[in-house]
Amino acid sequence: MSIATLQDLLADFADRRDWGRFHTPKNLAMALAGEAGELAAEFQWLDPEQSARVMDDPAKAEAVRLEMADVLSYLLRLADVLDVDLEAAVREKTAVNEARFPAGR
Ligand SMILES: [Mg+2]
Repeated sequence: MSIATLQDLLADFADRRDWGRFHTPKNLAMALAGEAGELAAEFQWLDPEQSARVMDDPAKAEAVRLEMADVLSYLLRLADVLDVDLEAAVREKTAVNEARFPAGR
């Protein structure tokens, strides 16, 4: 499923509930930060080895997977509302990082 298709799915979900009025850039950015915190909380207090095996526990794996979906969903909505091409933005930022951090140094 493409980025645009996912954005259409999320926009339709919001539109059918009349939630578009709540999806201001500020609210979406704050929701994104909150969901990132919920994802981080799934790893809180795990040691490195436990965190590497987090997907071995079905209940924990489901929690991590659903928080990842929340994070991505709010990022996709924010990009949609702000008319940001996420694929182009990732390419742009990767080029910036290539210049900042040359490989092999
Ligand atoms: Mg969540």
